[in-house]
Amino acid sequence: MTDFITRLCDSVGAAHVLRGADMAGYLAEPRGKFTGRALAVVRPATVGEVASVLKLCSETRTQVVPQGGNTGLVGGQVSADAGAVILSLQRLNRLRELDPTSNSLVVEAGMTLAQAQQAAEAADRLFPLSLASEGSCTIGGNLATNAGGTGVIAYGMMRDLVLGLEVVLADGRILNGLSKLKKDNTGYDLKHLFIGSEGTLGIITAASLKLFARPQHVSLAFIGLASPAHALNLLKRSQAQAGERITAFELIPRIGIDFVARHAGKRDPLSRPHEWYVLIELSAPYSVLEEILAAALAAEQIEDAALAQSAQQALDFWALRDLMSEMQGREGGSIKNDVSVPVARVADFIAEACARVMAVMPGARMVPFGHVGDGNIHFNISQPLDMDKGEFLARWDEITGIVNGVVLEMQGSISAEHGIGQMKRELLAKVKDPVALEVMRALKATLDPLNILNPGKVI
Ligand code: ZN
Repeated sequence: MTDFITRLCDSVGAAHVLRGADMAGYLAEPRGKFTGRALAVVRPATVGEVASVLKLCSETRTQVVPQGGNTGLVGGQVSADAGAVILSLQRLNRLRELDPTSNSLVVEAGMTLAQAQQAAEAADRLFPLSLASEGSCTIGGNLATNAGGTGVIAYGMMRDLVLGLEVVLADGRILNGLSKLKKDNTGYDLKHLFIGSEGTLGIITAASLKLFARPQHVSLAFIGLASPAHALNLLKRSQAQAGERITAFELIPRIGIDFVARHAGKRDPLSRPHEWYVLIELSAPYSVLEEILAAALAAEQIEDAALAQSAQQALDFWALRDLMSEMQGREGGSIKNDVSVPVARVADFIAEACARVMAVMPGARMVPFGHVGDGNIHFNISQPLDMDKGEFLARWDEITGIVNGVVLEMQGSISAEHGIGQMKRELLAKVKDPVALEVMRALKATLDPLNILNPGKVI
């Protein structure tokens, strides 16, 4: 064993330094788009152990790739260098404090999102971040990527749900910012530097999170309508009548429902097919939702709607949305874009991007869906039925380039909620404001002068 590995073992215990075949689960990523390599995986259980690993890596100039639940979609958690150490935070997963009066929850980075939600619920509070991968993604990863999901329309992104952070810096110093304060104007708000930095500026080890009241009522409807423009009209009407009580507003194309019906055996609750669907959830009694839908029906903004009549039916409605990405995978190759445009441009964006992609690839099956209330569309494309999968995927950059072209024309963003990672790093350098890029590079050089923290990601 090399001296470095021996010292890693001294830092966290030999059982928590993985090498060779034991590293497999930490090297692969969910989409199989990036291949990982590493010297070792190290699994610290305390912030002190994380600090000790960082000190050692700083001294030896060893690259550190932090990893939470390994569910990231842009390759940010993948180590590309055979000499790098993957720092898994999964053992750092304790609940440190829950204070229902201050509405705060302090948890460590390796706790899963679902566990944090459950901890809040046990104290009759709500932690509102909600994602398809919540059973395995971790709070640290949610923070590092500034995760979004379905509740953003009402509660904001991860960044909006944080009161304070504990962060280990590149040289092993511990920045203790675990505040529970809503008001704290004591200089620069450093937590926002680390949130969304994808492990390039520091390693988040714990967070103080905001809690909310649990909704007294939840109502859910699955709605058939003619077009994304109709969905925008319904959004406007719903916001006028229910405002902040809209906790989800998800757009789904017919082909997505077909995929879920075909591969997951789920049933469309409406009596005939519609071109588009909206899944709307309110933190309000059904009477409010019924009033909105009745008015929308009378105004011909929607064609049909089904209300979830039971907890089981609510789960079934959500499954139509949540299973879509996975079931799209059963239809062959899929090219994915996580983008945002101003909410008012969503319908124009979908029409224009579909037209431009179809022009260069007739037969491409367009599956744009997502969080319309946030202007965030997952502009996914399934391969033409008669095309070879490899041939289709080889055109990833060409097709995403076309989609991003429309996004930029509409003053949108090339990454709405998945981050930059390795996948969009070169693109970011081309489209980000040049002065913003200079400031980002200056911050990186200040906080990580040896460039050991997740190099090759973001910038
Ligand atoms: Zn999403």
